[in-house]
Amino acid sequence: MITTTNNAPYGIKVPWDSGYLCKRCGGLIYYDINTKRQACLNPECQDYPKEIEVYGTTEADLKFLNNQFAQIEKNLGQMVRTCDYRFLALSLLQMRRNIVNEFFTSGRMHIDSFLVSNDILSFIPKYKSLGIRKDARTLETIVQLYKEYSDLLNMTEDFKEGRYVLTRKPPEHLFRLKYYDVVLEEIWPSYGLVDIKSMPNVNNFRYHEVIQKLISKHLTITTTDYGPFFDNLWPFAIGFRYLVKRNYATSLKYRYAVTPADLANILSVIASLRDNEVKTLPIVNLLAHFIKQPKRDKDFTDFIGMLSGGSGKAPILFKTNGDVMLDRRTMLLFFILLHTQHIASSATPSGQQVIDLHKQQAGTEYETYLKTKLEEKGYRCMPRSTRVARRDYDQIGISESGREILLVETKFRDPSSSSFSRHTLIDQEFTLAEDGLLPQAITHQERYDLIFEKPQLFQGKLGLKSNIADYAIKAYLVTKFTPLMHSYGNVSIMSERQFRTAILGE
Ligand SMILES: [Zn+2]
Repeated sequence: MITTTNNAPYGIKVPWDSGYLCKRCGGLIYYDINTKRQACLNPECQDYPKEIEVYGTTEADLKFLNNQFAQIEKNLGQMVRTCDYRFLALSLLQMRRNIVNEFFTSGRMHIDSFLVSNDILSFIPKYKSLGIRKDARTLETIVQLYKEYSDLLNMTEDFKEGRYVLTRKPPEHLFRLKYYDVVLEEIWPSYGLVDIKSMPNVNNFRYHEVIQKLISKHLTITTTDYGPFFDNLWPFAIGFRYLVKRNYATSLKYRYAVTPADLANILSVIASLRDNEVKTLPIVNLLAHFIKQPKRDKDFTDFIGMLSGGSGKAPILFKTNGDVMLDRRTMLLFFILLHTQHIASSATPSGQQVIDLHKQQAGTEYETYLKTKLEEKGYRCMPRSTRVARRDYDQIGISESGREILLVETKFRDPSSSSFSRHTLIDQEFTLAEDGLLPQAITHQERYDLIFEKPQLFQGKLGLKSNIADYAIKAYLVTKFTPLMHSYGNVSIMSERQFRTAILGE
């Protein structure tokens, strides 16, 4: 059915096409941010442009970045030392609460602002002081300077992960991994957690009603009662977990060692907070919640240590001498994250099953939607997962008038967040994971080939009016996001959005 060509990286034996991979070596394509010029930056490749020389990621190569880094940190530290520490902490906590508030009312979050606000709250205790400044200008400068600091930190990680490459020759040109565009434009926004505040049509989930119910005083605070509420919060929780994993350094800051007793404690604290203001309370007030719990698995100091961001974690609340500063909604947001984390890490199979179930939901919904659409277009659809010659076909659509048979396979798997790195992207999609794109494309090609190998089996099973040889067979692999490869042999690979436009004519 298909002929072999010579562009055969990763052992691919059939013609394939991709807008994101080098045709010659299969390496990842980059493009110059300014000139948009594309290039394969694989040094082994014959197509590597000779005039380009890139910075590596060794200490020496990144020295220019590290120097800037140290300078900014020094300036920041000096500035923090001049401030009234409580004022600074309170202002930063209010800033963070505002971001969280916006999320609870709009369902969208400016994710980087949230992450930065947590980082800066972990940063200032290192420069704790008895300063006196408490003016808005100073605060603004500190936040601005910290953003620069944080941008540099992210950039360093971006270089290490190969999402961006900086060139020595031509001097200081920035290249971006082309597939990273898909991550930025489709994958992150799909979670409703976006960098661009005004991104339209991102997410229709509205959380605030669910959350209001959750924190209403009628709710009994035990770890079993709040389950139903969380069903509605799963899309957010999964999305957040996913996003913080995009950077290794970030992922560590949001990995807490949380137990069911901790969760019950935190929820009890949340329920005791009457409004959404940032409160300052004596630490001993939290002890009351702590001792109320029937079960305890860590001591109070460790519990407070975990909440206040000990050992480099993002601080859920802020600790000063003898007091804690906290607010209800931020606590609740963290609680949701911790709860998901707890379920994901629990050894019980049910925890993983719950997560899988929620992840599958989008895929199932799309399959139903697809069937309806195909039928509207005059296709007769076979039942889902029709089995022919020991192979399952997700969706077969038959058009008698158009003499067409569509084989549509939907794979709504989320790309692993670790695939946002040049080091793992190819592994994840092509070689390691069984559910990666390439293995799926190969399987779908086999489904396609089977029709030509055993036409008589399909003739009867599909109830065709004419001879099967008179039909055009078309195979589609539909993915959640723009795929790394567009075609493999006879299989067209496209995102559900592309499928709607190109095939369903929407
Ligand atoms: Zn190449």
